[in-house]
Amino acid sequence: MSDKIKKRIKSLIKKINHLDFCYYIQDEPSVTDDEYDRIFRELESLERSHPVFVYPYSPTQRVSGGLLEEFKQVKHSVPMLSLNNAINDIEFSNYYEKICKSLKSDKVEFVAELKLDGLAVSLIYEEGILITGSTRGDGNIGEDITSNIKTIRSIPLQIDGAKLPQRLEVRGEVYMSKATFEHLNQIAKNSGERVFANARNAAAGSLRQLDPKVSAQRKLSFKAYSIHFDDDERVYNTQQKSFEYLRSLGFPLVMQSDCLINLDECKDFYKHIVNKRDTLPFEIDGVVFKLNLFSDQRSLGVVSRAPRWAVAYKFQAETSSTLVKDIEVQIGRTGAFTPVAHLKPVFVGGVMIRKATLHNFDELNRKDVRIGDTVIVRRAGDVIPEIVHVVIDRRPEDSKPFKQADDFGTGCFEKAKLIRIIIHSSSKHAFDIEGLGNETVSALVERELIRNFSDLFILKKNQLLELDGFADKSSSKLINSIKKSSQIKLDRFLYSLGILGVGRVLARKLATKFLVLNNLRIASIEELEQVNDVGDVVAKNIYEFFRSPASSEIEKLISNGVKITRYDEFDDLVETGFFTQKTVVITGIFDSLNRGEIIELLERQGARVVGSLSRKTDFLICGKKPGSKLEKANELNVKVIEEADFLLTQE
Ligand code: NAD
Repeated sequence: MSDKIKKRIKSLIKKINHLDFCYYIQDEPSVTDDEYDRIFRELESLERSHPVFVYPYSPTQRVSGGLLEEFKQVKHSVPMLSLNNAINDIEFSNYYEKICKSLKSDKVEFVAELKLDGLAVSLIYEEGILITGSTRGDGNIGEDITSNIKTIRSIPLQIDGAKLPQRLEVRGEVYMSKATFEHLNQIAKNSGERVFANARNAAAGSLRQLDPKVSAQRKLSFKAYSIHFDDDERVYNTQQKSFEYLRSLGFPLVMQSDCLINLDECKDFYKHIVNKRDTLPFEIDGVVFKLNLFSDQRSLGVVSRAPRWAVAYKFQAETSSTLVKDIEVQIGRTGAFTPVAHLKPVFVGGVMIRKATLHNFDELNRKDVRIGDTVIVRRAGDVIPEIVHVVIDRRPEDSKPFKQADDFGTGCFEKAKLIRIIIHSSSKHAFDIEGLGNETVSALVERELIRNFSDLFILKKNQLLELDGFADKSSSKLINSIKKSSQIKLDRFLYSLGILGVGRVLARKLATKFLVLNNLRIASIEELEQVNDVGDVVAKNIYEFFRSPASSEIEKLISNGVKITRYDEFDDLVETGFFTQKTVVITGIFDSLNRGEIIELLERQGARVVGSLSRKTDFLICGKKPGSKLEKANELNVKVIEEADFLLTQE
């Protein structure tokens, strides 16, 4: 048994060393941070239960990092350590309790700061002049990157201050803003160069350049988080006071909390930052909590690679690696092809992911994703999960490139496209054909019992009986429900046509203005543009649709018995309510309703739902991750209604 453990520990050490090399030396991680942390934690846990196998060269006993031979080396006067981390509420609470126990107090003072996702640097100033800039390296020895450091504009080359110590050291994080990272990768993509996996690796790769001109072009930034000099505790004796001192010397600082005096305050600050994270211009990967009193910090001290008096409460990973089980090509409402990867389920950003989009065939080819590949998936904010890249090292030897669009044959695509169109046209907010499921639509198209949507309305019971699962009763039922749906209001009919840009809300607006289909068919682009929220692009789409061969389907529908009836704006007004005649904007993600349902509830009460905020807006209905609209609503004094309160107004 112990042999097995020893073997496992040794293999984990080897694996972590390899991953560290890719990450710290090549600035090109081969697994996600989440996966790295899982491996690291397995090693920590095995070492905890088998202390005889804690080798001095284990990565748990030292600060990971690396030194490029090309740089001169700098010895740090005080080691630059890493941070222990907590990855969930339980771990953080345990850490807090442990600290209280060690300090024999149930109340300790913490200050929290953003954990910037960049790389740690040390800056040495003598007589107020920056003389050395170095990386963390292995914690004791770093790389001399002074020339590169000097190209970063937020790092002062000279500092002033009353009684400035002769020599002082400032530590902080060099990072790349989200905008610069996107821009850099876009340029690299366009010119076929190497694309960085994340802003942290881009910052590290940019800073550790032999030519400082390259670093300068990369527009790196810096924020300080600590300062050290001889006898520094005579000037400040708390973390907070040290920040004030740093600020007075002109250093940019990471955002900090006030003093947090209990566990709840710490957790509230963490939650506040989780909500704010997406709106920040740079990447952060957690919140760092540090004991405020230096006397407390001293009494706890450090363990091998990290101080005991601080912890990084990390965010749930927004990227993870997993396996592509299959690739399916979906056909959108407008006939566009979207390859979708079916994945081995994996947690990303706290959510279980099973599928990820590959957007289109160009993207699929560029990333060369294949069935059987291990891939990195990302879920940022409320964006649909996407595949960032393939882990080529783990590609099976017999893997083959995925089929190209042309390989599918036009017949196959045409059928798939027709299925999508029929599913859309018969959906709840269009013809609302009860009992017509997606499988039935597919079977009808596959068997060529219908060749377009209008054929549905002349479908016979005996044709339905040909399909699996249809008996006498169920066939009659579906035929009746198709008949029932053949009378349709103009707004639903317009929505059913699937014209690009014409969703349910716009369909209603068009129906309100034009009243009957014929008025709309002959409307000019200018007349269409007069409808609120119809821009020039959508106006053109509508105009062209009615002059395209696709519109001939309308005649067929009518001759097959479909009756389009006039839309009356007040048809749907069930009752007057809280939102009657109010102008409302919706933002964020909702738990219990989707956006379409909220719009429907509001419009039933006669509210005007618009896309952007102005002084005329009465309410902002606000879900999770609201973004800039919430800030704007506060600026404009627009009343904000959260999801729970909105639901109360509907009871
Ligand atoms: P870390 O990044 O988890 O924490 C320590 C670092 O946080 C410090 O060195 C400092 O640079 C930084 N930091 C940012 N804001 C700070 C603040 N306000 N105060 C203090 N420090 C602050 O630890 P690490 O040892 O640098 O790196 C380990 C982590 O790196 C792993 O947990 C993993 O996420 C990642 N990693 C990934 C791979 C991979 O292959 N994907 C490989 C190696 C490491």
